[in-house]
Parts: sequence; C-alpha cells; structure tokens
Amino acid sequence: MNNNRIALITGANKGIGFEIARQLGKDHGMTVLLAARDDTRGREAAEKLTTLGVDARVISLDVTDSASVAGAAKHIERDFGRLDVLVNNAGVALDRSPPSQTDVEKFKATHETNVLGPLLVTKAMLPLLKRSSAGRIVNMSSGLGSLTQNNNPSWEFSSVRLVAYNSSKAALNMQTVLFARELAEEGSPIKVNSADPGYTSTDLNQHQGTRTVEEGARAAVRLATLPNDGPSGGFFNEEGTVPW
Ligand code: NAP
Repeated sequence: MNNNRIALITGANKGIGFEIARQLGKDHGMTVLLAARDDTRGREAAEKLTTLGVDARVISLDVTDSASVAGAAKHIERDFGRLDVLVNNAGVALDRSPPSQTDVEKFKATHETNVLGPLLVTKAMLPLLKRSSAGRIVNMSSGLGSLTQNNNPSWEFSSVRLVAYNSSKAALNMQTVLFARELAEEGSPIKVNSADPGYTSTDLNQHQGTRTVEEGARAAVRLATLPNDGPSGGFFNEEGTVPW
C-alpha cells in the first residue's frame, strides 16, 4: 500500500512535464509516474528524479495509441489501485504556417496528440481517479488556446496564428469544462482545470520561450494540488484566471 499521493504526468520525460513531475515529487511528496512514449527517455528522466530523492516510476504511454493508454491504466491499477492526479501534459506544435497555408496532415496529427490524446487518457484513468478521495485532472493548455486573447490585436502573442495548435488547445479547454461539469453533477470530488504555463523555454519552441520550466510548471502544480474547496472547470496561469 502506497500512502503517497500518486500522480501521472504524460510527456514527462522532458520540458514542462518533467519539471511538473519534479515539483510534485520533491515539493509535494507525491509518487510520480513519468509517462513517456520512449522507454529509454522515460527511464533516464526517472533516474534523474530518483537521484533527487523523488519516488519516480516510468510508465510507457503514447497518448495517440489506445492500446498503450489501456496498458498504462492496467499497470497503474495493478501497482497502485488508484490515481490521485492526472496531468495531461504531452503535446506537440507541428505546423507554424499562417492559417491559409495550414498543412492538413499536420493539423490532424496535432489534434490527435493534443485533443484526442487527453480524451483517451482521461477516459482510461477516470475509474482510477474515482477511487481517490481528492482526484485532480490538469489539462496542459496554452494562452494560444484562448479565443478571447486571439481576438485581441493588442495581445502580445496575437501574431502567433497557429491554426492547428491554437485550435487544439481551445478544444482541450472544452474538455476541461465538460468533464468538470459531468463530474460535479455526479457529486465527484474530482476537479478538472486547464493550465497555461506561459511562453516557456523548451524543445517545443526551440528554446525561444522567455520563462523557465520552473515558472512554466507552477500553474499546473497548483491545480494538481488544489484544496477541496478549490475551483473546477477553470483556465489558469500563474497569475490567475485566463479568459476562454
Ligand atoms: P516539449 O519539451 O516538446 O515536451 C513535450 C512532451 O510531450 C515530450 O515529453 C514528448 O515526448 C511528449 N509527447 C509528444 N507526443 C507524445 C505522444 N504521442 N505520447 C506521449 N508523449 C508525447 O514541450 P513542452 O513545452 O514541455 O510542452 C508541454 C506541454 O505544455 C504541451 O502540451 C504544450 O503544448 C504546452 N505548452 C507549452 C508552452 C511553451 O511555451 N513551451 C506554452 C503553452 C503550452 P518525446 O520526448 O518522446 O517527444
């Protein structure tokens, strides 16, 4: 029996996901399940956290592969019997062309990872999260998924018109709202929220981001550790609420 809270973070072998795992493990004493689609990269990441004294395990999980998602759920069920925190962090930004030049295949692949991926993982993990006394789901969104911000010409990122990526995060935000409502109506204590990390230096943007991963992880970590009277069905960055 593991008395720690158990957190699963997808795409946790690097970038913001790895840092979320580090903070949840190191600062909040959780057992962190680092989900990675590549076992070697996952193992290397878990070893780094183990060296820091974190109880870190690797789980093989490609969010676009339903068999892999089902296998991960079975693995967690067998080893822990429940899940307390799910962070749907894995994401890709595959097409940087202007809207009229959008590559349709890259659009599909982006949505497969960023939209269908979290749906598959959330559905598979919900029975395990329902066994937790305080389940938390965090969907890693982006300010680029905000319709309001994209519609404001003076917003600092209004020129970043990545139709595939931005629309994938808007669709993910809708999952946040609708799952939160369904669970609330069931009387479930599970909270579902979207996190915006801000423009963070990672491989996703060739390290052009201006925030550190420590800063980028904070909003998600706060939402993963919300108290029972915290919000559900919202969209937050480190400063507070982000407009939809
Ligand atoms: P990153 O360094 O490129 O990390 C992305 C992670 O997702 C990697 O671990 C990657 O695994 C994993 N991944 C991609 N496709 C996957 C799949 N099919 N199955 C499982 N894992 C998969 O990017 P990041 O910046 O940390 O991004 C993390 C999240 O934050 C993403 O959802 C991103 O959209 C969001 N975000 C980032 C920023 C930013 O400025 N960086 C801003 C807003 C939102 P591999 O190593 O195997 O490729």
